[in-house]
Amino acid sequence: MATWQCIQNCGACCHLDPSDRPDLAEYLTPIQLEQYLSMVGIDGWCINFDQVTRACKIYADRPRFCRVESEIFSEMFGITAEELNDFAIDCCREQIMDRYGDYSLESIRFEQAIGSSSIISTNNPY
Ligand code: SF4
Ligand code: SF4
Repeated sequence: MATWQCIQNCGACCHLDPSDRPDLAEYLTPIQLEQYLSMVGIDGWCINFDQVTRACKIYADRPRFCRVESEIFSEMFGITAEELNDFAIDCCREQIMDRYGDYSLESIRFEQAIGSSSIISTNNPY
């Protein structure tokens, strides 16, 4: 079974352009939405994301909605702790594919990191 984990040098989920996330108001509180929008840079990336190192510059103090934690995801998306793993994997796959592409190095690294059996199809589209 695949086990979710965040990989280094990715940051796909730190591209915050609201036009790519039309349902933000459905899972963020008004205060969180205001904070989210205040972090969107002119290029759509979070202003706290270092695009050279692909790391969060405020990692220890990142907002609650940036944290993949059971309690937070339950609040935002109404999922159970048991559902978190698969939900987080699906979220990352979507973000990585949108940002870097289906057969990108980031996608391959992510599938390898989580121990996914889909790494075979990710590496070989045929
Ligand atoms: S998309 Fe997933 S793997 Fe990539 S930085 Fe975000 S949480 Fe980590
Ligand atoms: S605060 Fe950090 S983790 Fe959250 S979107 Fe910005 S760069 Fe990414």
